[in-house]
Amino acid sequence: MRRRKEKRPRHDDVAPLVAAASRARLNAYAPYSRFRVGAAVRTHDGAVYTGANIENASYPLSHCAERVAIHKAVSDGHRRLDTVAIVADGKGPAMPCGACRQVMAEFGVRRVIAATPAGRRRVRTLRHLLAEPFLAERLPGRRGNANPRGRA
Ligand SMILES: [Zn+2]
Repeated sequence: MRRRKEKRPRHDDVAPLVAAASRARLNAYAPYSRFRVGAAVRTHDGAVYTGANIENASYPLSHCAERVAIHKAVSDGHRRLDTVAIVADGKGPAMPCGACRQVMAEFGVRRVIAATPAGRRRVRTLRHLLAEPFLAERLPGRRGNANPRGRA
C-alpha cells in the first residue's frame, strides 16, 4: 500500500491562496524572532487579502500575520471569511495561535491551511482548532455575530 506523506484535497483549490501567503511572508517585519510568517485570507465572495507578521521592540505590540490579513479584509468591508492560509518559516507547518483562532471565529473562517515554504501542509477546520469559540451571541442582548452563517 502506498502511503501519502501529506493529505491534500483532490482538487487543489487552495494552491493560489498558499502561494499568496508565501509571497506575503517575504514582507514580514521580524527582526527579533527572525520567524517570518505570511497569511492569505479568502473572503466568502472570493477576494484575497494578505498579511505578514509585524514585530515591535516592545514585544507585546507585535501582530500575527493572520490577524493582519483578516483585519485588512474586515477594514475593507468584508465580514464573511472562508479560508486562511499560513506559510511560516520552519520545517513543519505552524498552526495559528489561540488569539488568531478566536479572530477567525468572529468572521466565520471555516478552513485553515498551515504550510511550510517547502510545501508541507496541514489542513484543518476552524471547528477542529477552536471547538468552542466565544461568539457575540453569548453577549447580553445580542442574537448574532459578524458571521451570519453561525457556527452552531
Ligand atoms: Zn496569532
